[in-house]
Amino acid sequence: MTIPDHPLKIVYKGHVFTQQNESDNRYYRCWERQKGWYGKRLHQLIWIEHHGPIPRGLCVHHINGDKLDNRIENLELVPHGEHIRKHKIWETQQ
Ligand SMILES: [Zn+2]
Repeated sequence: MTIPDHPLKIVYKGHVFTQQNESDNRYYRCWERQKGWYGKRLHQLIWIEHHGPIPRGLCVHHINGDKLDNRIENLELVPHGEHIRKHKIWETQQ
């Protein structure tokens, strides 16, 4: 298995995504002041590119717990409640 590297910035479709600093919410997000891009999360765009729109009530979750590992095989859709539960489980394991 290749270990993904996490550069501070990733360019996706010509738009710059940067890592957020907060340790509990470390996603790549876009801060370009362009309509439709501001605040976008990269993992959600990657999911949509491969599988189409995210249905209401579902969240894109990082299977290995690494929120910067946006390989499509590391992403899955889970219901919102289950998503919260998964993260609570990790918190107690750490
Ligand atoms: Zn998650």
